[in-house]
Amino acid sequence: MNEWSREKSCKGLSVALVPTMGALHRGHATLIKQSVAENDLTVVSIFVNPVQFGPDEDYESYPRDFERDLSLCKKEGVDVVFRPGVSEMYPEGAGNGTKVKVGEIASFMCGAERPGHFDGVATVVAKLFNILLPARAYFGLKDYQQLQVIKRLNEDLNFGIEIMECPTAREPDGLAISSRNRYLEKNCRRQAPYIYKSLLGAAEKIVKGEKSVEKISSFMKEFINKHIDGCSIDYAGVYDSLKLQPVNKIEGDVLLAAAVWVGRARLIDNVVVDKNE
Ligand code: AMP
Repeated sequence: MNEWSREKSCKGLSVALVPTMGALHRGHATLIKQSVAENDLTVVSIFVNPVQFGPDEDYESYPRDFERDLSLCKKEGVDVVFRPGVSEMYPEGAGNGTKVKVGEIASFMCGAERPGHFDGVATVVAKLFNILLPARAYFGLKDYQQLQVIKRLNEDLNFGIEIMECPTAREPDGLAISSRNRYLEKNCRRQAPYIYKSLLGAAEKIVKGEKSVEKISSFMKEFINKHIDGCSIDYAGVYDSLKLQPVNKIEGDVLLAAAVWVGRARLIDNVVVDKNE
């Protein structure tokens, strides 16, 4: 892949990377379409990265459907699908080699609930960047904190890659599309869009002038608990849109974000509120 990418770049062709864990859906397709439209060559990587899963998380049961993924990539005009094996990526055993340690940005939100998760993400993405040498790489705003972690990785370790952000693709009822949505049973699936509705409701209050972080956070939590039976909220609140730490007051751009267990699925979603809009 490294040689292939160097050769293409030498010929003046732009190589772009869309990193994924497979089980591709319309959200991934948004990134792929944008990359295919903006670059000469698009590589989609498919790798369920063991190093970013905690010991009790869903690494084993994470959906894998390579044949379907391949046909989606073909349909979208992807040039190369890169699917390395775990032992190729981690010859010394997953988690035993050199790792990237993400800074403070990884200590809030999902980072607080999933220790080591973003170090695992940054490690695999750094490896993919070095293997595939892309000029651009595409990431979804759905995983907002991941996107900020990657932007920092790119700057802090001087990869010099153009990081492209793509909007969140949603189901018609507002639920952010995710590979983990297939874990949702019927009733959970019906109620899951209330996570996004809580973010929209909170955003509306802020735009109308609400300045209290406590009131916004309580509104989100109460709304989610009221509409989603038996859910468990990992976090729901107001964060700095770049540093990702919880804010004390609402001024300028803020990030509204939530992570909620709905049945077997841990769902995340976010919106950025720009008060100047
Ligand atoms: P994953 O396969 O879940 O690791 O996701 C691979 C990439 O697709 C990441 O950059 C995600 O942020 C992005 N992605 C996943 N779901 C969506 C979505 N619903 N809308 C936009 N991007 C998404």
